[in-house]
Amino acid sequence: MSSLPDNPDALYGDVIMDHYRNPRRRARLPSADVEAEEFNPFCGDRATLQLRLGRSGDAVCAIEDVSALAEGCSIIQASASLLADNLRGRTVDQAADLSQLFRDLMQGKPLPPVAIAELGELEALEVVRQYPVRIKCALLPWVALEEGLRRLSQREASQG
Ligand code: ZN
Repeated sequence: MSSLPDNPDALYGDVIMDHYRNPRRRARLPSADVEAEEFNPFCGDRATLQLRLGRSGDAVCAIEDVSALAEGCSIIQASASLLADNLRGRTVDQAADLSQLFRDLMQGKPLPPVAIAELGELEALEVVRQYPVRIKCALLPWVALEEGLRRLSQREASQG
């Protein structure tokens, strides 16, 4: 596979370009327990996230379904797709931990091998650190996730 020097494939790599071209889990969920939208007026990026949670009695279990829709540059679309692909089956706490790990990655914190393994395919987005204006793009779907989880815990607290 050859790439022109100004081709984004060459800059961002296969994983990012695959998720950009074939974004996963964009379809809106018919019903969602968590929903959040974030907008970056600086570059026009928008991320909309929905989660459906499994429940046993009153207790929230794992994330059963995810929808992540992004509009904007290739990086936000790839990041939203990678996020959506990596949340199912995690508990709410595990999703929050993954989000923190992803922030650490984007901030260039040294991560132990176990954290890198936990990030899996998401590690591909580390390349974005070479283009600092794009870091916000990569983080926006995760900001939506964190906002959604924050609202969920407020709601759970007020119901409890
Ligand atoms: Zn962007």
